[in-house]
Amino acid sequence: MKTEIVNQSSSYINGQWSATDEKIILQNPANLSTNIKEIYFASPQNAKKSILSADDAFTKWKSTSIDYRISLLKDLMSSLKKNKKSLSQLITLENGKTIKESTGEVDAAILEGNYQIEFLMHNLYESIENNKLYYEPLGVALLITPWNFPLSTVIRKMIPALICGNTIVLKPSEFSSLTSIFLFELIDNISLPNGVANLVLGEGSIVGPSLMESSALKIVSFTGSTDTGELIQNEIGSNDIRYQAEMGGSNALVIWDDAEIEKAVEATVASGMACAGQWCTGISKLVIHENIYDNVMRSLIKAVKNINVGDGSFTTTDMGPLNNLPQLNKMKNYVERAVEQGAEVIIGGESIKSDNKDGYFFSPTLLSNVNDRMEIASEEIFGPIINIFKTKDIESAISFSNLGKYGLSFSIYTADNKIAETFIKEIDASLCHVNLPTPYRDVAMPFSGWKQSGKGIPESGRFARDAFTKPKVVYSDNS
Ligand code: NAD
Repeated sequence: MKTEIVNQSSSYINGQWSATDEKIILQNPANLSTNIKEIYFASPQNAKKSILSADDAFTKWKSTSIDYRISLLKDLMSSLKKNKKSLSQLITLENGKTIKESTGEVDAAILEGNYQIEFLMHNLYESIENNKLYYEPLGVALLITPWNFPLSTVIRKMIPALICGNTIVLKPSEFSSLTSIFLFELIDNISLPNGVANLVLGEGSIVGPSLMESSALKIVSFTGSTDTGELIQNEIGSNDIRYQAEMGGSNALVIWDDAEIEKAVEATVASGMACAGQWCTGISKLVIHENIYDNVMRSLIKAVKNINVGDGSFTTTDMGPLNNLPQLNKMKNYVERAVEQGAEVIIGGESIKSDNKDGYFFSPTLLSNVNDRMEIASEEIFGPIINIFKTKDIESAISFSNLGKYGLSFSIYTADNKIAETFIKEIDASLCHVNLPTPYRDVAMPFSGWKQSGKGIPESGRFARDAFTKPKVVYSDNS
């Protein structure tokens, strides 16, 4: 039962591991007959206590020097690097993504954390002529994160929040408790003062309201689905709590008739099927110019057929299972509804076994005959399903790409810069790509969303400082 990778199994509050009575058994999504570990979810009382501990620790922590905070967080980044292999294995075990994808996530988290350390070291104070501008911490920050990038979405928020002088409570997804426990074991080892960083495990609907009821809470930084983001915003209501959110996406990739087909198909598979389609900047919509439609489809079907679905811990696996049962049920439901509405399953569309093992495996799926009246054209799919739309005019390609309430990522494949410019100008998305797959790429840039994909100041790139601080200007007559 016990995984060798983590020793602890509970929340971490005020420097103590705090078990409760509520025990949960975690399963391996690639092999449902294997239980990974028993862990304890926090009670609402634990949740309240975590905010109070963070509040108690705030006054002292904000008065520490930036050099001190940076030296501690540099130690944390070094221990992430030192433990990269175990951490990647743990992410694969708990999340299902392939070991290559997990290792990529750990690398990306280290890169992002180190960027914030370097940037904030020099940018929490400015002097403009005689006037001084200080970026002051807000207080207690509640960080709520999803399961699909269980380490990088946490590091993205945690490092800038702490360096800026805030104290934190992390509420990770109930589906990524182990990765968070691992991270907090490393935090425990770097001797961060008690209460500065707290971990609350559990379901959002159970611990969420208790976490948000205290007036000590000054900011909620959320990453997750748009529905939950809206719920949390309602929960905060008119309380004086800053709110910033990174939410869902329904992203498109367009292949125009002058595109390099092999390169575009490779990007389609990478953008649509990486992490079994469970990443916010992955694509669920593919727009193909009718002049090259047959050629693209031939090459795409071949590439998708070659995807080896299986246990992510095997190096021969290209695509792991979905993370959890609701995810698997959602995919079956999307395909069923799309077919009812006239879409055609070209390949995939069903749950499968791998090596005869029951896991949350779903076959990589291509759906054609999709049009702008179908629900799947505007919803977030968040799985290995690509909806294909054939067109020959730019207007309908743009309007199909912009369908729905999301505005996160987009890519256009074309050899013509003018066509690329026309698309980029009209697309409602914050991350736009030309002849490139659709992920977040540059740690100095904001990772944010337009429309209902994002809210408030992004907590990433050079914007992180503004998300986690308030400015104080000092005008002085003293020289
Ligand atoms: P989710 O919305 O179900 O859960 C996100 C977090 O919110 C979890 O920790 C969950 O426990 C918590 N939560 C749920 N209800 C809550 C409540 N009432 N109060 C407080 N917390 C609550 O999302 P998920 O399934 O974990 O993750 C997938 C989603 O995340 C997708 O929509 C994806 O697009 C999005 N995502 C966005 C980005 C981005 O940067 N834009 C990055 C990664 C994932």
